Amino acid sequence: MERNRYRIIFLGPPGAGKGTQAERLAEDLKVKKISTGDILREAVAKGTELGQRAKSYMERGELVPDEIILGIIEEAINDEEGFILDGFPRNINQAKALDEMLSSKGLNITHVIFLDVPDEEIIKRIAYRRVCLKCGAVYNLIFNPPKEDEICNNCGSKLVQREDDREEVVRKRLEVYRGSTEALIRIYEERGVLRRINGLGDREEVFRRIREAL
Ligand code: AMP
Repeated sequence: MERNRYRIIFLGPPGAGKGTQAERLAEDLKVKKISTGDILREAVAKGTELGQRAKSYMERGELVPDEIILGIIEEAINDEEGFILDGFPRNINQAKALDEMLSSKGLNITHVIFLDVPDEEIIKRIAYRRVCLKCGAVYNLIFNPPKEDEICNNCGSKLVQREDDREEVVRKRLEVYRGSTEALIRIYEERGVLRRINGLGDREEVFRRIREAL
């Protein structure tokens, strides 16, 4: 089988729209979306061993230890299919581990989509965000409401606010982003794979910008 040519990372602060845009792009490019946050939330909801290990970090808005995350990624990446990574890597150590994992298979990251959104906008978006824990769909009660109040359009499950979308946890997550994740922008920029995308505006507009940048 021919290798898919897209191996993409979505980078950006919490609430930038990574999940929504990654989902859309994955459909468009016919590649798999791997969201470490979704995988972890599902594990927490099901109470699996992974979920039990990750839960307290997530509730505090801290990063889950690298060894747990790298295990998830090793399992999820299939070298022939191409992929979009949403929420990984989150620090330099994870980025290095990803490089090693890929280069041992003769692969590389083809694009890094950096969704740039200012802090004031993030706080606003996150307060109105609701998610479906079953299928991972993301809504915004103002900008992208579900058809039926608090019910997922795709699978009919009840929508919830993420535990870690409470304001004090969001502040912590932003701090972690600044302290650990933001440094990756520079690394991928130097490698020439970074595409800086203005994340403001409606979802269609942002998606069009991403499409043009690829
Ligand atoms: P997200 O949905 O991507 O914002 O992730 C939600 C939470 O899951 C984060 O605040 C972290 O606690 C954890 N998490 C997700 N991805 C990672 C990662 N790559 N490294 C460490 N922790 C992660």
